[in-house]
Amino acid sequence: MREPADLLNAQRLSELAAEYGPCFYLLSSSQFRRNCLELTEAFRAIYPHFSIAYSYKTNYLPALCRIVDELGGYAEVVSEMEMEIALRCGVQPARIVWNGPVKNAERMEWLLANGGTVHADSLDELQTILALSQKHPNSTFCLGLRCNFDVGDGVLSRFGIDTQSEDFSQAVQLLRDHPRLRLTSLHCHFARRQVEYWPARVSGMLALVDRVTEALGYAPRRVDLGGGLFGKMPDSLKAQFSARIPDYQDYAGAAAAPFAQHFRQASDPPELLVEPGTALAGDCMRFVTRVCGIKQVRGKAFATLSGSQKNISMTGVNPPIRIYPVGEGRHYADVDMVGYTCIEADVLYRHYQGELAKGDFVVFDNCGSYSIVMKPPFILPNVPVLDLDHGDVRLIRRGETFEDLFATYDFGNGGLS
Ligand SMILES: *Cc1c(COP(=O)(O)O)cnc(C)c1O
Repeated sequence: MREPADLLNAQRLSELAAEYGPCFYLLSSSQFRRNCLELTEAFRAIYPHFSIAYSYKTNYLPALCRIVDELGGYAEVVSEMEMEIALRCGVQPARIVWNGPVKNAERMEWLLANGGTVHADSLDELQTILALSQKHPNSTFCLGLRCNFDVGDGVLSRFGIDTQSEDFSQAVQLLRDHPRLRLTSLHCHFARRQVEYWPARVSGMLALVDRVTEALGYAPRRVDLGGGLFGKMPDSLKAQFSARIPDYQDYAGAAAAPFAQHFRQASDPPELLVEPGTALAGDCMRFVTRVCGIKQVRGKAFATLSGSQKNISMTGVNPPIRIYPVGEGRHYADVDMVGYTCIEADVLYRHYQGELAKGDFVVFDNCGSYSIVMKPPFILPNVPVLDLDHGDVRLIRRGETFEDLFATYDFGNGGLS
């Protein structure tokens, strides 16, 4: 159930615009919570030992990070910046999983000494961690290995340790030789979202669980299958993809069912994790813009919006939109909705057909993933985020000011403050 669209109207949007400016995001944190619960339920119905590790980089609004934590999920972070977000949201170190190819050694040491998990991306990184562990002779460090193998998706991934290489054997040997480095987790992540690639990911990881269990004499407590799941979309968006868009049940069938089968006799089966970002956040945010003007150039109509394609970070598709008319509209057969930047390619929606007028609100749906986190301070500062749930409005990120952005620059008149 998608509640807020119905609560919006031109009057309401005009009031919000009067207070927050001509451009802002509307979050539905209750939709995000529902997604977390539904996805968890879909997996747990088949394999009960399941948790979400939320991919912070997709959308790190603290309101969302806190919901995941409250529901018992993990924080999946890929930098010391994201780890700091988790800690400020009150996430316990033991609920933090740190992935990514480059990690700050000091912060990695801190997390490991405090019970968090680091997934090593290379043998070299594992050796760095071994050196760090020698400064903590009374601690056991929780480690994971990011596993790189072919799942037939046509991508030669640069992440993780090639499981067929000598490096992987050496990594396992290193863990064997140093029991204070505890293999807590086996991890993989593949970016391609089609469910067709999931069986290879799952069987690959199950084979690796058996292999490392045999080599180490103990089983990893967690198996983390990474992200790469589609989120919910309206039919108008689905129709723009060539393949069918899978739902949570489809992924649960592909991942949880083989786990249930593989561990059917295990007395202490591992916890299965996935790292959704898009699948949870995608349909939780809308982006509100206004039509600043409409003009014709050699027979082609352009509606210039107060927002930019950089705000919605969707390319190659027309996002789901809804127009809230304010002015007296005219019918257009073909308008491109373009952004405030000076980039020709800044087009938010192509070939719109219908009524439109200066002052109208154009609201873009499905803007929750890789939007606010990817938006550069290009030409204008960032706009506010409002949590609009059950009719209540809460400002959860204020609009950026000139001072916010330029406090780090030296303007040459007295140096940096
Ligand atoms: C980006 C990323 C995710 C989230 O991926 P989505 O498919 O966008 O949800 C999860 N895990 C890792 C390691 C990632 O890099």
